[in-house]
Amino acid sequence: MNAQDLKAPIEYLKGVGPARADLLRTELNIHSFQDLLSLFPYRYIDRTQFYKISALQNTNAEVQIIGKITAVKMVPQKRGKRMVAVFEDETGQMELVWFQGHKWIRENIKTNTPYLAFGKLKWFGNKPSMPHPELDLLEDFEKKKAQRMQPVYPSTEKLQKRGLTNRKMNTMTFNLLKQCTKGFTETLPEEIREKHKLVSKTKAIFDVHFPASVQDLERARFRLKFEEFFYVQLQLIRRNLVAKHKIKGFPFPEVGDYFMDFYKNHLPFELTHAQKRVLKEIRKDLRSNAQMNRLLQGDVGSGKTIVGFLSMLIAIGNGYQACMMAPTEILAIQHFEGISELAEKVGLNVKLLTGSTKTKERRLLHEELASGELHILIGTHALIEDKVKFKNLGLAIIDEQHRFGVAQRAKLWKKNSLPPHVMVMTATPIPRTLAMSVYGDLDISVIDELPPGRKPIKTVHRYDANRLKVFKFLKDELTKGRQAYVVYPLIEESDNFDYKDLMDGYESIVRYFPKPDYQVSIVHGKMKPEDKAFEMQRFVEGKTQIMVATTVIEVGVNVPNASIMLIESAERFGLSQLHQLRGRVGRGAEQSYCVLLTGHKLSKDGKTRLETMTQTNDGFKIAEVDLKLRGPGDLMGTQQSGVLQLKIADLVQDGSILALARKEAHVLLKEDPKMLLPKNSMVNFTYQTNMKNKQLWNYIS
Ligand code: ADP
Ligand code: MG
Repeated sequence: MNAQDLKAPIEYLKGVGPARADLLRTELNIHSFQDLLSLFPYRYIDRTQFYKISALQNTNAEVQIIGKITAVKMVPQKRGKRMVAVFEDETGQMELVWFQGHKWIRENIKTNTPYLAFGKLKWFGNKPSMPHPELDLLEDFEKKKAQRMQPVYPSTEKLQKRGLTNRKMNTMTFNLLKQCTKGFTETLPEEIREKHKLVSKTKAIFDVHFPASVQDLERARFRLKFEEFFYVQLQLIRRNLVAKHKIKGFPFPEVGDYFMDFYKNHLPFELTHAQKRVLKEIRKDLRSNAQMNRLLQGDVGSGKTIVGFLSMLIAIGNGYQACMMAPTEILAIQHFEGISELAEKVGLNVKLLTGSTKTKERRLLHEELASGELHILIGTHALIEDKVKFKNLGLAIIDEQHRFGVAQRAKLWKKNSLPPHVMVMTATPIPRTLAMSVYGDLDISVIDELPPGRKPIKTVHRYDANRLKVFKFLKDELTKGRQAYVVYPLIEESDNFDYKDLMDGYESIVRYFPKPDYQVSIVHGKMKPEDKAFEMQRFVEGKTQIMVATTVIEVGVNVPNASIMLIESAERFGLSQLHQLRGRVGRGAEQSYCVLLTGHKLSKDGKTRLETMTQTNDGFKIAEVDLKLRGPGDLMGTQQSGVLQLKIADLVQDGSILALARKEAHVLLKEDPKMLLPKNSMVNFTYQTNMKNKQLWNYIS
């Protein structure tokens, strides 16, 4: 069989046929012979170990035992019958059990003949049994020269039910590989393979399915991971280079008068070094002819807003408009208020547009926007509705981008002849490995320094049983004039059960903190936007001391006097959410606290999350742990990312391989940007083939 034959549709493979082919396509995305070979095992069963019946441990482990079937009987049960075989070795007896397929077994099973039984153990008291074992005549097993490390393939219930069991997948793959006597086309340059001691493609493919040893398996996996990363990186790096050349943007030759005036006369505080550095990076982008695509990362409270605002001033100083989009109405209002205050100082016109903007105001706003009278528009995703037409949008800032879909971002971009410069601000720190892979085509700026004078937030974990002590502590802090948030989990906006928790909690707090000494606000997703804004405003102005809320306050809200964040059922929150919530406090000069309340029962992951929170305030460390716990798919909606649909490599575990592959991809492209040198022809061919099959996530554009 040669490379061309491997493209054959999967139904032509022996033992597959049209019905199973359909299943393989829909369940596992396997269309061709080649796809089957690219379905890599996710684990391996060690079949080098044999057990004796008397030595079995009371676990549900998968084991293999050599023995003989001495008797078979049918046992009636509630529904139908089960078939039970007595299986013996020289040390004892156990039962093999079948709930279906009796006829076939009865006709095929041989008694008093050595078998190898393999499967999961079940225990009834101290009696072991094995339901639906894999049975091989010992003779056959030895002839097959037993795969020592038996591959286990990803599967679904449907596949299992229709007979595409792991054993079947195993046989199919094994037989297919046997036909591939000519081996596989090599897809990595000799030079790179030698340098990093990578095994050949052929050996890697054979060994990843049926390795003879753990070492062989490791080498095979290393090579395949390297290859996978290498081609993803080639794509990302090339797109980056290409994008830089191709996408034109508005050049802003000067910083302009607005910027100069504000910077010299109205800056409310000295910028941190990190803020200045980032601003320089942005300035450089804006001065060039290319469109800026920059991700601005900075932990909560690091001061991204002012950087965004100063960038807006540059756009406006060059005769363009700017907008800022926020994920929630509350946040949009806050940005509007904050930025209006700053913009007023240099005489700029700022307006707010959200879902609740009245028709009349909207009409005026649209007019001013079209005429260019309006300099800055701030709002929610209402900004990207088709009716909203700018005269000349020069800079779009998106705050907390992980809440926006790719399509929404693309819409912003279509508002001009040329795309506006885009800056995405996020407090969700993205671990380096992930950033390298996902944002290979996006420039990243990091504000890695907090404004001076901040005291690190003290975080503690307390059990529900100590609630009264916690409330007492809260009372003491309120007496000192501080304010507090009390947050309840709300996983689903529609989940009434969670609302009941929230309302019960609110009532108990009102009871413990009674009027008129205390004022308690509540904000949640079921409230009307204007009611939410009203309550929020009361809290901002210090008219209420406690804000009971769901995670609607998660992002961006800035109330420096609030110094306590009490999180109820903290075990139900994800790490990045907890970190975001904690970031709501610690914004003023006072010592701030974050209290994580939980029940007594905690899962292992839950414990890890709580420990991480109490041990560190560093958003990057937290993101690393989060990535480990959740895998990259969940993080910031990166499911949309084709890049992350890696077949074998793992962004968390394989960061070092990624770095190697990325380096080699850089070296190759530096020497041969278009991959036209003869020695790179095979890389180019593989690259083109991959591009056809895999659509990379189109970031922003
Ligand atoms: P985030 O990065 O979380 O969006 P903000 O932009 O809301 O942070 O800034 C947090 C707080 O820090 C605000 O009150 C802001 O005015 C203040 N701030 C920002 N930069 C500085 C600075 N260089 N010095 C002092 N305070 C600053
Ligand atoms: Mg912010």
